Amino acid sequence: MLFSEVEGHAQLKQKLRESVRENRIAHAQLFAGPEGSGALALAIAYAQYIACEHPGEEDACGKCPSCLKFKKLTHPDLHFSFPVAKTEKQKGLADEFITAFREAFLNNPYLGLDSWMDSIDGGNKQPSIYADEAHEIIRKLTMVSVEGGYKFMIIWLPELLNPTSANRLLKTLEEPTNKTVLMLVSEQPENILGTILSRCQLHKIKPYTTEECANVLSQQNPESGTDYLQLAEIAEGNAALALWMLQNREASGEQLALFRDWMLACYQFHVQNLMAMSEPFQKKGREWQKGFLSYCLFMIRQTLLHNHQPDLVRLGQEEKAFIEKFSRFFHPGNYAEISGYINQAFLHVKGNGHGRIIFFDTSMQISDVFRKEKNAPVRV
Ligand SMILES: [Zn+2]
Repeated sequence: MLFSEVEGHAQLKQKLRESVRENRIAHAQLFAGPEGSGALALAIAYAQYIACEHPGEEDACGKCPSCLKFKKLTHPDLHFSFPVAKTEKQKGLADEFITAFREAFLNNPYLGLDSWMDSIDGGNKQPSIYADEAHEIIRKLTMVSVEGGYKFMIIWLPELLNPTSANRLLKTLEEPTNKTVLMLVSEQPENILGTILSRCQLHKIKPYTTEECANVLSQQNPESGTDYLQLAEIAEGNAALALWMLQNREASGEQLALFRDWMLACYQFHVQNLMAMSEPFQKKGREWQKGFLSYCLFMIRQTLLHNHQPDLVRLGQEEKAFIEKFSRFFHPGNYAEISGYINQAFLHVKGNGHGRIIFFDTSMQISDVFRKEKNAPVRV
């Protein structure tokens, strides 16, 4: 991964390059940013720059033997640790999943936890960095560098380290080995042990703007005729989700049809339909669930815009025709409540909840909003 292949974050890239030029690479560093902000990609680009045999002012050369290995994430001094869901046959070590991890990252360098879990069939298992993995981290950190230069241990989502592992890790932070860089890439640094945090140099990574997120999409998929800005807006700048949606785009109109059927069933309080719909929702996987809920939120915002500032509406023909019919469902009086329930559902999906239950509960909450309105005096 080159710095130039990671969207945005110009200032931070500058700071990282300077640390290499001035030979003050901190032993332990924390890249903290929300999902889809490019934090993992940036940490890998930084390691590649440090290890590059002919680094330029701005970037690694991309051509030396070290860079070529980094490009495939197979450099022998580049180690990864990340959450997994172990099966009965596995210990739950990152090495057991390393091929899948490389593939997932190379396919989507803005990878998020949910699509990672979907890709290893994690289902609703709780992702974790298990205790045995802590031994591995320490073993790799104390190993001699294979190529004679720096060695790197990138721990993706260290907030999912189990507490025993976290304590073990602390010891190695207290006694750093030479030419070893430990990079923690976290979405929730508040859930990391304070004693670990205080030993790391902190790099705060901002979420992407809609425009930056759209740039990610066009950089990763320059051939597509998709409206990148619309996708970036649906994903609210989360490049992990936006890129996943772009790569897994369904037949045009499918999400729209689902959204329409869902809202109609809620409006009619058709419990049987809602129960039937919750089953396929469950089966689609977490990243799809997040994508669909984000799409619903986007469409509700667009409906409201259509009613109040139609020139700002950002939709294709089919969607526009739909919200013209649908605009009476949503108004400023119910917007906050309905969006709030869908947002909450999104967070529950992210928090590893059960898709079918989340979908059904949310449906009941939205139905209730509509039901109360039908019983209330007609709005003027
Ligand atoms: Zn190089």
